[in-house]
Amino acid sequence: MKSSDNIEDEKKSTGRLKSIVWEHFPKVEGATSTQCKHCKKVLSCRGRQNGTSSLLNHLHNTCKTSPLYKKPDLKKQTTLSFKPKGTEASGSLAKHSFSQERCILALAKICIKDNRPFSIVDDEGFREFVWELNPQFKVISRWTVARDCLSIYEEEVEKN
Ligand SMILES: [Zn+2]
Repeated sequence: MKSSDNIEDEKKSTGRLKSIVWEHFPKVEGATSTQCKHCKKVLSCRGRQNGTSSLLNHLHNTCKTSPLYKKPDLKKQTTLSFKPKGTEASGSLAKHSFSQERCILALAKICIKDNRPFSIVDDEGFREFVWELNPQFKVISRWTVARDCLSIYEEEVEKN
């Protein structure tokens, strides 16, 4: 039963995708290539499924003039910034991009290096500060911070 349901879903979705695609490319029966209405780029559309998916990919990821174009994910945006005063390698240029994992590590460092309590994550001011910096960061619980600090501590002990 399950597999036939999936086939039905696939039919529905490819049918839907096709109709979206053909709003942006003139549909010519039997043609092996078509031209994007937005950037006038000629693309191959051979094969029923591969054809439409590559056209859709063009609309989503390549064609900046397409209304369906998805801007690159914020998470992947990298900036060059100077490391702040009083930190490791301060004053040097470093690449920076948002990473939940690195934020969690930095949060553990606040507790270890700056001697702040784990409960800092529950402070209203701290949460607002973090949100202003980057709303993508999901503040973790004080128990998770405590566990991370412990594992960092254990790692350091192993190194020495
Ligand atoms: Zn285009």
